[in-house]
Amino acid sequence: MKTNDKPYGWNGKLLNVDLSNREVEDQRIEASVLEAYLGGRGLNMWILHQNLTSSVSPFSPENLLVFGAGPLVGTIIPANGRYNVSSRSPLTGLLGDSNSAGFWAPPLRKIGYDEIIVRGKADHPVYLLITGDRTEIRDASSLWGKTVSQTDTLLRKEHGKDSQVLCIGPAGEKKVRFAAVLNNVDRAAGRTGNGAVMGSKNLKAIVVQGEGKIPVADPEQVRAVAKEIRAAMRGASSFEVRSQFGTPMLVNLYNEMGVLPTNNHQSGVFKTADRISGERLKTEYVVRPESCYFCPVHCSRHAEIKSGRFAGVTTEGPEFESMCAMGSNLGNDDLASLVFLNRRLNDLGMDSISTGGVISYAMECYQRGLIGPADTDGLELTWGNTDAILQLVERTAARQGLGDLLAEGVKRAARKIQGSEHYALHIKGMEVPTQEVRGLKAWGLAWAVASRGGDHCRAFPVMETTWSPEQTKAFFGSEKAADRFAYEGKAAMVKWAEDFGAVIDSLGICKIAYQAMGLTPDLIAKAFQAVTGIESDGRGILEAGERINNLERLLNLKLGLNPEQDTLPVRFTDEPLPEGPSKGETVQLDQMIEKYYNLRGWDPVSGYPSQAKLNELGITS
Ligand code: SF4
Repeated sequence: MKTNDKPYGWNGKLLNVDLSNREVEDQRIEASVLEAYLGGRGLNMWILHQNLTSSVSPFSPENLLVFGAGPLVGTIIPANGRYNVSSRSPLTGLLGDSNSAGFWAPPLRKIGYDEIIVRGKADHPVYLLITGDRTEIRDASSLWGKTVSQTDTLLRKEHGKDSQVLCIGPAGEKKVRFAAVLNNVDRAAGRTGNGAVMGSKNLKAIVVQGEGKIPVADPEQVRAVAKEIRAAMRGASSFEVRSQFGTPMLVNLYNEMGVLPTNNHQSGVFKTADRISGERLKTEYVVRPESCYFCPVHCSRHAEIKSGRFAGVTTEGPEFESMCAMGSNLGNDDLASLVFLNRRLNDLGMDSISTGGVISYAMECYQRGLIGPADTDGLELTWGNTDAILQLVERTAARQGLGDLLAEGVKRAARKIQGSEHYALHIKGMEVPTQEVRGLKAWGLAWAVASRGGDHCRAFPVMETTWSPEQTKAFFGSEKAADRFAYEGKAAMVKWAEDFGAVIDSLGICKIAYQAMGLTPDLIAKAFQAVTGIESDGRGILEAGERINNLERLLNLKLGLNPEQDTLPVRFTDEPLPEGPSKGETVQLDQMIEKYYNLRGWDPVSGYPSQAKLNELGITS
């Protein structure tokens, strides 16, 4: 990338909030830092790396909670409403980071901020009101204990319905280690427990209001690129199905491939998957498609339950991850309960993937006799027992009985339930997501090396099943990279996808709309150049992604990462899938991980990036 003198696109301003001293101040962000780390996730990581040490514990006032929205947020470039929230994770002790869409971030950028840093701890519950002209730290005592939808309603009643509300629910207040941060009621920055960090600071909500315009370098070119991107999205082969069904379209697809996690990943085949399919969800519960800010894909859906025990429940979603984590992986094929649980988990403010992960762990402990009714206060934790699932969700959020242990996450829970470690499926302390990676090798590597632990979104290597052999040969050096059972080319695929994903998160656009729909780094670089005025191309923008991934590595090492943690639970490496189209498969990580480290320029023993790699990327500290 070649720098232009004037940094358009960014505001170059962050809001620094100290809750302990009740002080707020604006600070400038250097142009060189913006250009190197782009914004959003990248800039959050730079701020954490500058400020955190291994002695700062996640729930201490010294931990930072950083919100970042990249330079495309609030412009007319499609699907640009995303932000990242980051801290030291209470779940993993390593970097904590999650990403959400919706409508909260664009006004933050429009009133003049790219970032918010929250430090310290308020002596009673508070919320922030940010208007651009002023920032107030306001009393939130009457909101404490309220659900996410109640909090949203009350704050928008107070500050106007056009105000955008981000908040935590009761689970964040109780410091459930996988509590989420929510915005627009149903949009979750779910993973790594940032909601618990927010709760530990007595910060209930951040309300943003106001209008403004993002300064862009070349308005005409921005309009032209936005048009080109919209056309590329609408022309993508998956556009129609994503618009019709959203991510739940994957339920049937994964089941047909034998990679739909079932009963705590004991199988990749769920016999009644069609009962919780995206197709059935659309027919029985979806009343209209929904979209985030400026997004033509509208992959989200507004669902309503009109009859039965959950009648009257409305929600945006559920997404595939929630349908699998609370559905097939718990043996639960009650679709209405999944719609209800989407609403309820968002209201409580708990990550659905980790919640499903702790409950599936508890159910397998129950199956194997490691816990019994005396440990569960009478709950029968049998697969598919919807009532028990509903109860355990409530008890986890409230930290009651077994729920108090599960609120600590499976890694910590397994230290207390003797003999259960094998069933505690986590990576670096975070519960694994909802692919059955024994039949998807690139996803297996992606999980193992993800900087935030058990995670599918850092790399999101959809190319493994959506690209042709010719495409994977051109990009990753092997036609076999398009074969989900093969190992060749997967290290290159995951590295490329991680770098691309870091760019997307840092610019503030959506991985589903761009990465999953086949849009290229070149096209994104065009948008970046039109907005910022910085000359760029696909290669240059991917280098920024590589820089961000290396900085995340340094941050994790600083916080205590051991490279031996770049691995998978034994279930995935040593236990072959027992049935279905992926029967007999395991993940042979050693066939990919060394190549991945080589491509990254990381030392296989210490895990550190080589000095040559740091020099090449211009990382100086
Ligand atoms: S693709 Fe879906 S999740 Fe992404 S911005 Fe559009 S509607 Fe939101």
